[in-house]
Amino acid sequence: MNTTFSCVGCGKCCTGHHVPLTLDEARMWANDGGQVIVLVEAFLPNGLGLPAAQREHAERRSAVVRSGTSDARVAITFAAYNVGRCHNLDDENLCRIYERRPLVCRIYPMEINPHIPLDTAAKDCPPESWETGPQLILGGELVDQELARLIERSRQADREEIAIKERICMSLGIHTTALKGDGFTAYLPNMAAFAATIDQARSQPLDQAAGEWQFHLSGEDVANQVSASGARVVTEAPVTYAFISLRAA
Ligand code: SF4
Ligand code: SF4
Repeated sequence: MNTTFSCVGCGKCCTGHHVPLTLDEARMWANDGGQVIVLVEAFLPNGLGLPAAQREHAERRSAVVRSGTSDARVAITFAAYNVGRCHNLDDENLCRIYERRPLVCRIYPMEINPHIPLDTAAKDCPPESWETGPQLILGGELVDQELARLIERSRQADREEIAIKERICMSLGIHTTALKGDGFTAYLPNMAAFAATIDQARSQPLDQAAGEWQFHLSGEDVANQVSASGARVVTEAPVTYAFISLRAA
């Protein structure tokens, strides 16, 4: 696969996308008056919720927690909550924090998940952006080595920060997850509390005990499977979070 690419500055990738953030970036986002959305998914040691091909990647970016009588591995994303235009996007579609914009903003349209190949049709970039410019991908390989380093930095942050993110979630009362592939739970924490909790979690050694999590599922069939694995399933309607279902209609 060969692909050329040149950003035409349309600003579409800065509109309606929740941008995954590193911990430093999430703290910066809070400092700048932005809102962070917390997205949570987990899978079970018996493989429930985990495509076999993704095991290594998924395990490295997840924390082992307790759920009922089972372990679970929880993956947590802190992302810039951009329902409309990003609050950093100005009227000319320029980024107001360009020099310190998040890693994922620098990486787009490339993917940070190694299991998701670049699909130009699924990206917001208009057709002309793929018709000119330098080679982005040549023979299936990413050409720009600086971009490759940014992607690796983003993946590394994902792996290194999962334990502290789990502690932060516990402190904020975030302890309901979705099953990977079945959906996400989504929280919009108070940003003053979020920022204070990050600062606190960084200044104190992490408590070694894993948190106790429960699962919110899309339907009774999946709930029964998760329950049968020993994990704790919540049946009440969500109050402090939203459940984003990935179940096919
Ligand atoms: S921070 Fe800048 S580059 Fe990133 S989404 Fe917002 S406006 Fe776009
Ligand atoms: S959607 Fe693509 S072309 Fe448009 S600003 Fe983003 S990266 Fe550039």
